[in-house]
Amino acid sequence: MRILLIEDERELAEALSAALGKHGIVADHTMHLADAVELTRQNIYDAILLDRRLPDGEGLSFIPELRRTGKDTPIIVLTAHNEPKERIEGLDLGADDYLGKPFLIEELMARLRAVLRRSPELTELKITAGRMVIDPLHLSVTVDAVPLDLPRRELLVLAALARRREKTVLRSTLEAAVYNYEEEIQSNALDAHISRLRKRLIDAGAGVAIHNIRGVGYLMKEE
Ligand code: CA
Repeated sequence: MRILLIEDERELAEALSAALGKHGIVADHTMHLADAVELTRQNIYDAILLDRRLPDGEGLSFIPELRRTGKDTPIIVLTAHNEPKERIEGLDLGADDYLGKPFLIEELMARLRAVLRRSPELTELKITAGRMVIDPLHLSVTVDAVPLDLPRRELLVLAALARRREKTVLRSTLEAAVYNYEEEIQSNALDAHISRLRKRLIDAGAGVAIHNIRGVGYLMKEE
């Protein structure tokens, strides 16, 4: 799961990115609306978290701008402007939800899950592959109903492969599922995650195999 965080308070943004990361969500962060527009052109996001008072303008102006490009990505406004009149303004402009600062990360997570459940992009909330059931929103996986403990990045790779099982998934797609755009990706990092993941899946009897499509990506097949 990948989201865009538009927020100019650096400390809050860093804390939020770290907290979201623990929940398996990769966050691209920007402080500027102009960069946000560009990032939504380059990447596909599952949701957008939007502050209102930003250095280059009112955050709400981003909503109609994004919708004009045909994108209906869920947007949650996170702001200190939390009067009823301001909330109405945000929702009427096309925000999917509106959360006043300060807020609990648990509440933000619950609201994210709620908007994602309504998202047509994410029809498959739980992914079944082989003997596994993967729950990307709660970052958990079971094999024959027994929980399987996986490091966060391996679970993100697993979910990205399982969602597109029986299809070749490009390296770039897998990397985008695991790293944000500011992180430096070592050229063999993905292969290392997959090699460890493969071993764990075999040990657990997960009923899937991950094939390397040389120079292109990886392919998960059910056995
Ligand atoms: Ca602000």
